[in-house]
Amino acid sequence: MQDRKVFAFDKQGVYFSNQFASARINQLAMLNDSTFNVTVEPENEPINQSAWYAFKVWGKNGKNVYVNLVYPKSKHRYQPKLSYNGKTWQTLDKIVLNKEKNEASFKIQLSKDTLTVAAQEIISSTQSYEWMDDLVKTYALNKTVIGESIGGKPIIALNSTKSDGKKIVVVLSRQHPPEISGYMAMVQFVETLLGKTDLAKKFIEGYELIVIPMINPDGVDEGNWRHSFAGVDLNRDWIDFKQPETRAVRDFLLEKVNKQKAKVYFALDFHSTFNDVLYTNEDRADTNFPGLTSAWIKGLHEFEGSNKTTVKPSGNGGNVSKAWLGKVLNAEALTYEVGDQTPRPYIKQKATKVAEVLMTQLLGSDK
Ligand SMILES: [Zn+2]
Repeated sequence: MQDRKVFAFDKQGVYFSNQFASARINQLAMLNDSTFNVTVEPENEPINQSAWYAFKVWGKNGKNVYVNLVYPKSKHRYQPKLSYNGKTWQTLDKIVLNKEKNEASFKIQLSKDTLTVAAQEIISSTQSYEWMDDLVKTYALNKTVIGESIGGKPIIALNSTKSDGKKIVVVLSRQHPPEISGYMAMVQFVETLLGKTDLAKKFIEGYELIVIPMINPDGVDEGNWRHSFAGVDLNRDWIDFKQPETRAVRDFLLEKVNKQKAKVYFALDFHSTFNDVLYTNEDRADTNFPGLTSAWIKGLHEFEGSNKTTVKPSGNGGNVSKAWLGKVLNAEALTYEVGDQTPRPYIKQKATKVAEVLMTQLLGSDK
């Protein structure tokens, strides 16, 4: 756990803080009146290279501050994003990387307003819970607390209520805290499935949509690189189910399927990596909707033209969510990876399209 505090340099008129959800400063050192080292370390090791950082900075109006992000155990991955209001963000392009890429330096100019500097746009658990509450107010959805994280935060499932509950589509997200671009795709995907179009209205009458948007709220709010409070990669726990967060999802889905005598037709787990990519299960003739994934990818690729998303089949074994969703629930299931730097408008455009393609495929059959 980080030491949460305001790092005050009164004489220089410079203040940093990691006292907010998703912040991460592990150490802060002043090199001279205007240059500061922000050391960024992971929650524990071994861990994937996804060096998340986030801090607030303010001070003397107009003062130039030089920040070095220092990664003793990793490399720079995320281009800094800046925001004054937590809603609109700008990418800082002017950064200098050292040869080893374990230091990234940039300049910021202080103003009277507090500036947030973060690895990606910040979407804390609170913001996600607020989004869920807004959805529940707008659409016919149930909200269920299906479990608790180790840190005592709710794991929440939303499910639509207009169908007979026999056919289910599952959406998961945020097992990995820094994977904001995947979360953004998830939001757009879900809002398209719930939307006001004729297609969406038909979909929601025919299928029950289950969304579990925030599986690792502790990791998200602690500014973790990847893990839960147990120091565990939750998306490697789908065989053992040793963690309360993954167990909550498993138990809720199994209970739903059994109680409602339902079938899960399709499931997506949203993530982020360096580029857009889809990780699929091997084709099987005995899922609840054989061929759906292939047809859906075909629809996506037609939309993309020459710039097609890479598809990587990665077998049906393994301890990741898509493997369990395929093996145990017989769902057509994928990991939907969004690039860290995929342009935000395109994330939305693509997520809208894949939602439409999915609805068309699902409604085009009478399975
Ligand atoms: Zn991930």
